Amino acid sequence: MDAKIEVLIPEQDVRDRIQEMADALSEKYAGENLHLIGILNGSVFFLTALAQKMSIPVEIDFMAASSYGSGTESSGRVLVTKDLDRSIEGDHILLVEDIVDTGQTLHLITEMLEERNPASMELAVLLDKPSRRKVCMDADYIGFEIPDVFVVGWGLDYDQKYRELPFVGIVTE
Ligand code: 5GP
Repeated sequence: MDAKIEVLIPEQDVRDRIQEMADALSEKYAGENLHLIGILNGSVFFLTALAQKMSIPVEIDFMAASSYGSGTESSGRVLVTKDLDRSIEGDHILLVEDIVDTGQTLHLITEMLEERNPASMELAVLLDKPSRRKVCMDADYIGFEIPDVFVVGWGLDYDQKYRELPFVGIVTE
């Protein structure tokens, strides 16, 4: 049965905000080599939309990581199931993620990537749920702050579905 989904952030609002973020990034990194790193699968739609709206050339790479342990809460440990294709040493990195919730996954990923000695690393997220934070994790670029609700669309799934929705929605049933 299909889930019932209510629109939380309409498509045009998301697209307008991504354009603003892309403008800020293009200005900041003008003349630099910027390397976008997306965390699979959730970041794909946001990363590609952001890259297409930027006015500077960027490199793109992806990694996949899952937190492991039992239960529905993040366990505090992360397993890298697909690593980056090449070294990031000396590069300007923009880590791109769909959402920061408890912050645990991104905390562990940023710690791991810092050890690879990039020239700089910033974090861009489309959505932020600050009320759920368990570890200190502040994104440098945030699309929207949202309340503690379970959302889908723009890469976020419900049972692996609805990632493709062009708006951010709340699953109500
Ligand atoms: P964190 O380690 O910050 O708790 O977990 C981040 C991950 O939890 C996200 O990358 C995402 O996969 C998942 N997540 C957190 N909140 C939501 C939500 O509202 N909807 C969906 N679909 N996934 C979420």
